Amino acid sequence: MADQPSEKAIGRMRVFVDKYCEKSGTFKHPGEGVTESVILGLAQNVDDLGRPLCPCRFYPDKNEEIKHRTWICACDDMQIYKYCHCLLFVDKEGLPITEYLPDDHEGREMYGLVKDPLPDKGRPLRDKAEEREVERRERPS
Ligand code: SF4
Repeated sequence: MADQPSEKAIGRMRVFVDKYCEKSGTFKHPGEGVTESVILGLAQNVDDLGRPLCPCRFYPDKNEEIKHRTWICACDDMQIYKYCHCLLFVDKEGLPITEYLPDDHEGREMYGLVKDPLPDKGRPLRDKAEEREVERRERPS
C-alpha cells in the first residue's frame, strides 16, 4: 500500500466530486481541507481496491465490502437520502442534508433536521428507501 494516493486517482476523484455536486444539488464543504481529506481517502481506496469505497467508515474486510455497492461513493445513503456521512456533499453552510433520513438515523441524531436546498436534484435511488432501511437494521450504518 502506497503512503499517498496516486495523482491519477486524486484527479479522478476531484472531477467526480465537482460533477456529483452539480448533479446532486449539493456543495463542497466551505471548511479548509475537509473536501481534500475525503478526496484523498477515496483516491487511496481507488488505488488499493479499484473502487472509491467510502473512507469514513470501518470495514472488517474491505475486499468483501466492495462486492456490495452500499458504500461505494456515491453511496446508497447519498443516492437514496442525499446524506453524506463524510461531509463531502453538503449544503452551503457545510451541513449534511438530513431531511429525508429516517428519524432514528445517526445523521438525524447528530445534526437535527437539515433541509435540502435544491430538492429538484439528486436522490436517484429514492425509491429504494424501504429496502435500505431493512439493510440498515441488519447491517447498522
Ligand atoms: S458518505 Fe457516501 S457520498 Fe459521502 S463520501 Fe462516503 S460514500 Fe461518498
